Amino acid sequence: MNINKNYLNLKDSYLFSKIAQKVSEYKTQNPSKEIIRLGIGDVTLPLAPVVVRAMSAAAQEMGRAETFRGYGEEQGYSFLRQALCGYYKNKNVLLEETEIFVSDGAKSDLGNILDIFDADNTVLIPDPVYPAYVDTNIMCGRKIIYAAGGVENNFLPLPDKNIKADIIYLCSPNNPTGAVYDKASLKLWVDYALQNAAVILFDGAYEAFIRDKDLPTSIYQIEGAKKCAIEFCSLSKTAGFTGTRCGYTIVPHELLAGDVPLNKFYLRRQTTKFNGVSYIVQRGAEAVFSPEGLAQNKENINYYMANAQIIAAALGAADIWFTGGKNSPYIWFKCPGKLSSWDFFDKLLGEAGVVGTPGVGFGAQGEGFFRLTAFGNRENIIKATEKLRALLLKF
Ligand code: PLP
Repeated sequence: MNINKNYLNLKDSYLFSKIAQKVSEYKTQNPSKEIIRLGIGDVTLPLAPVVVRAMSAAAQEMGRAETFRGYGEEQGYSFLRQALCGYYKNKNVLLEETEIFVSDGAKSDLGNILDIFDADNTVLIPDPVYPAYVDTNIMCGRKIIYAAGGVENNFLPLPDKNIKADIIYLCSPNNPTGAVYDKASLKLWVDYALQNAAVILFDGAYEAFIRDKDLPTSIYQIEGAKKCAIEFCSLSKTAGFTGTRCGYTIVPHELLAGDVPLNKFYLRRQTTKFNGVSYIVQRGAEAVFSPEGLAQNKENINYYMANAQIIAAALGAADIWFTGGKNSPYIWFKCPGKLSSWDFFDKLLGEAGVVGTPGVGFGAQGEGFFRLTAFGNRENIIKATEKLRALLLKF
């Protein structure tokens, strides 16, 4: 038996365990002090009532012989894929049901899609970004190059025609920076991909947080994108499905590698290795895209975005450079006093009892930056922001 030696090249994912360890040490040393967590990217508000109703009704159906369902289509039930076609139509993107693959979340799909690409492809990954892109490619031994984000490009790297990549990841709104590509910038990426016969893997997990009407919420709002891009999306943050689990991936029929449609390959992959998402969850997901579901979830998103504004206002008042928070639940800022990400983490925890996420955990370019999330409850956000404000005054 030989192992996949590529796994030996993975770095330990120590970010959240190191945070947990530091928090636990702080608690032992300061048993009476309160800790507020603005570090994790998990939602806190419960599911929308219309979603709960739909899932309860679906559970009842499963308990009656006349309405019981066994295996469904691996790609998802038509009712959900039709609901998604409707959702995209409102974005002026016309999709066919067969272009949509329903799954248990974007993380799985982002890894699964790699099955259909050769290990020889060169992958271009923004830095900083959601760490799963890097690790899933290391697991299959692909060559990775990085597109550096920084203050100079607002953490939105653009294509460099001197660099040749076959698979390009884009995450907009970006995790961790909250930065969002505008249409002109995305068009540059689409043009680059078309010229280089490359594919863009576009992660739109946070698209529902975009409020600026001029910003694209799907890559297919850019001309030519259906010929070069696969889009990944998730109900995790849009509708509080982090624990319920549902996402979807769009592989347009127009997307070809030579004369091979990638949709056909992905369909083959999914029907071989995946048996679909539970009926109950898919009924809940369908309800997310009903008018009532969209309205109820919008309220939740507005709540998180009001939190983001509270944090952003404090950073603005302290004259700290930051991005995000306007069209994304993440706020990304430069650590004060030229501190490293971990030194600021220690200061924020030690002096304010607030837990955030060191930027360096999302890539080398994240060193010296810090991520806060707006997913907490209002009272905690206000308290934490006051403490952050007081700490920043010391610099
Ligand atoms: N993509 C990005 C950018 C994320 O931040 C996350 C989760 O944090 C995911 C994908 C994973 O989403 P899901 O919960 O649907 O697996």
